[in-house]
Amino acid sequence: MEKVYDVIIIGAGPAGMAATLYASRANLSTLLLERGIPGGEMLNTSEIENYPGFSSVLGPELANKMYEGAMQFGAEYAYGDVNDIQLDGHIKHVHVGEKVYSAFAIVIATGAHHRKLNVLGEEQYNGRGVSYCAVCDGAFFKNEKLVVVGGGDSAVEEGTYLTQFAKEVTIIHRRDQLRAQKILQDRAFKNEKLNFIWDSVVKEIIGEDNVVKGVTIKNVKTGQIQQIDARGVFIYVGTLPNTQAFKHLNITDEEGWIVTNEKMQTTIPGIFAVGDVRAKTLRQVVTAVGDGGQAGQEVYHYVEQLKEQIHE
Ligand code: FAD
Ligand code: NAP
Repeated sequence: MEKVYDVIIIGAGPAGMAATLYASRANLSTLLLERGIPGGEMLNTSEIENYPGFSSVLGPELANKMYEGAMQFGAEYAYGDVNDIQLDGHIKHVHVGEKVYSAFAIVIATGAHHRKLNVLGEEQYNGRGVSYCAVCDGAFFKNEKLVVVGGGDSAVEEGTYLTQFAKEVTIIHRRDQLRAQKILQDRAFKNEKLNFIWDSVVKEIIGEDNVVKGVTIKNVKTGQIQQIDARGVFIYVGTLPNTQAFKHLNITDEEGWIVTNEKMQTTIPGIFAVGDVRAKTLRQVVTAVGDGGQAGQEVYHYVEQLKEQIHE
């Protein structure tokens, strides 16, 4: 007979790892599925300064600590890129290619991915100067000129991080005000290696001999076009939810984010969602972990009640 877990958690970012910790500590048989390696976006983050208990911690270090904590109460872990969930009465089947795992409850913790700029040259020079990860690629650009696109926390924080390698970093933002937190802005404005170009959008990423040599930008107020030299272009223009595999469940809003109540329940009994994949206003490690803890506890109540019903 197939094994039916109490709960399967999809995604081992901070939200999924916190849900795993809470569910397994409540004695639920718990399976954590991840298509990459545990840590989620924390693995692409340099320093995290806003996670309680640490004045500053490296993203990968926090990821390791969370993974150890999540697995200490007997949860199972398996590699798997989930491509479908099928509902079957009280049981849910989670598909990973040909493999199927079953559980009474599911927690979706699949996070979000980088939005693309969708400009000429972005695809062609991806990995040849175009990057979405300063932590991964920053060190390749020692003493080079770099461009960062975007005006949110990621663009400003990672742009600042890149100044430790680069000769000069220019942040290109489509408005004249940053969206980033004030503390990140203040730090960036004081950094002598950081410049800003306001009210401008990238029209094209240009290259030579298969490597990036700059960007063509347009000022949205004046219409003026200019070329900026750069060996690397780091794109941080927001994120999109990883919900492709769950579209058919009709639990997302128009943009694809999963809608839940404060108990992290979706409209389908037994399916929960946590972390960045959820429709919410603050996407941070601390809120991801909070969602995960809440869901772990709610899953416990759900599974207990379900088992009582089944045995009646
Ligand atoms: P994620 O961390 O995105 O984890 C989701 C996991 O699900 C991933 O491991 C992914 O591989 C897996 N997955 C996705 N789809 C599937 C599938 N189909 N099958 C199996 N597995 C799947 N927050 C802070 O608090 N402080 C910071 O300093 C900070 N810096 C940041 C810097 C950058 C550059 C970025 C992009 C974000 C930063 N954030 C920061 C935000 C923070 O990283 C996220 O809010 C947090 O990681 C969200 O956690 P999550 O578990 O919901 O999702
Ligand atoms: P974000 O907050 O959505 O910001 C995206 C930025 O890109 C905005 O400035 C936006 O401009 C711009 N943009 C969007 N589409 C664009 C386009 N097509 N062309 C040019 N510019 C475009 O995304 P994020 O900065 O990646 O942050 C994602 C989440 O992670 C947020 O919740 C953030 O708080 C969190 N995070 C936190 C930290 C931290 O706490 N230290 C660090 C990184 C990320 P407008 O401003 O004009 O909309």
